Amino acid sequence: MTQNTSPKQIAILGSTGSIGTQALQVIAEHPDRFEARVLTANNRWKELAAQARQFRPAAVVIANEQHYEALSDALADLPIAVYAGAEALCQVVEGSEVDMVLTAMVGFAGLQPTIAAIKARKPIALANKETMVVAGELINRLCRQFEVPLLPVDSEHSAIFQSIMGEVSPIEKIILTASGGPFRTFTLQQLEDVTPAMALHHPNWDMGAKITIDSATMMNKGFEVIEAKWLFGVEPERIQVVVHPQSVVHSAVQFADGAVKAQLGVPDMRVPIQLAFSFPERLPSSFDRLDWFALHSLTFERPDVERFRCLALAYESLHRGGNAPCVVNAANEIVNRAFLEGRCRFLDMPDIIEKTMHKAPFIEQPTYDDYLQSDCEARRIAVSLLGRK
Ligand code: NAD
Ligand code: MG
Repeated sequence: MTQNTSPKQIAILGSTGSIGTQALQVIAEHPDRFEARVLTANNRWKELAAQARQFRPAAVVIANEQHYEALSDALADLPIAVYAGAEALCQVVEGSEVDMVLTAMVGFAGLQPTIAAIKARKPIALANKETMVVAGELINRLCRQFEVPLLPVDSEHSAIFQSIMGEVSPIEKIILTASGGPFRTFTLQQLEDVTPAMALHHPNWDMGAKITIDSATMMNKGFEVIEAKWLFGVEPERIQVVVHPQSVVHSAVQFADGAVKAQLGVPDMRVPIQLAFSFPERLPSSFDRLDWFALHSLTFERPDVERFRCLALAYESLHRGGNAPCVVNAANEIVNRAFLEGRCRFLDMPDIIEKTMHKAPFIEQPTYDDYLQSDCEARRIAVSLLGRK
């Protein structure tokens, strides 16, 4: 089926980021199969212009409108449409030529364009997990209504997805692996004094700053529990986080007969990105292969929610339901940035998130507008709590 079909046209939201640039590597490896139709970035217009020159998309969008002129000047000699602003992000994904949208931007900002893409019936390659954390129920409802597939890019969710391929029986339990981050072995006392530079040094993955800090607090894993609940319809009690420092087992699924299926591989995000693009096919790749004799050992530990309270807070928000995960996400975005910029300490982060969750008004069945409002309100609360630290 592959030979005579035209290349799949992919819109990459957040093409200058860690996932975005790796997605472009996948596209470059398979020019006969994939083309970048739309590229977008927030601020890094020079990088976006260079990508556009190489990949020749039909359109580019720079979310921060201040860079519009610089970007259009840089691309003036090419037949590439240049747009700016958050609204344009939503419009470009709706274009009739777009076959798939990769959501590789970071944070709550991913929600609106993802919804626009779903309403335009575009299959989604989902990297932006915050979308599912904030509004998983709404996204699922829209995907059903518009008959849109959501293909996971997050390595754990891709592993779970691969483990259930071909299965007709329900999942008994998800085993969601976690590297444990750079502070896995730190005591609470040691965690008091860790710096952003230490947190940015992840042992196994090279990722954007926000998710790297989320990995250090393990909020990332909490978010992935929420993401797994919505993607696979499994209740949090049946999602077990297991710390696995080698990041070789990307996650696993246990079935009613006790059988466990896992997906393994070297930690390389291009593998799940490529699979989301090519599904249900697997395409060849030049990426590294697992070297079994260099592995020595694979180890597994119970997560410690006393030291990594963010993980417990994510579970708590799931149990509360409604807008609670949206509130936790917003508070987390505030403290994550504050920690990075040296405005709060590592252990202040879970404190502020917890207090924000308890202070923000609870909405049991939020609408889209409720999510927008809850996000704003939670940010306001978290900022004011931050001011008191
Ligand atoms: P990153 O910070 O490296 O890149 C983010 C990209 O989004 C950039 O292109 C940036 O210009 C754009 N962007 C940021 N804010 C924006 C806004 N307000 N509006 C429009 N565009 C904006 O981030 P990343 O590490 O590539 O992560 C992207 C997403 O993928 C996140 O949701 C993250 O949780 C998820 N994810 C990342 C990895 C990884 O290995 N990096 C793994 C799994 C999931
Ligand atoms: Mg992950």
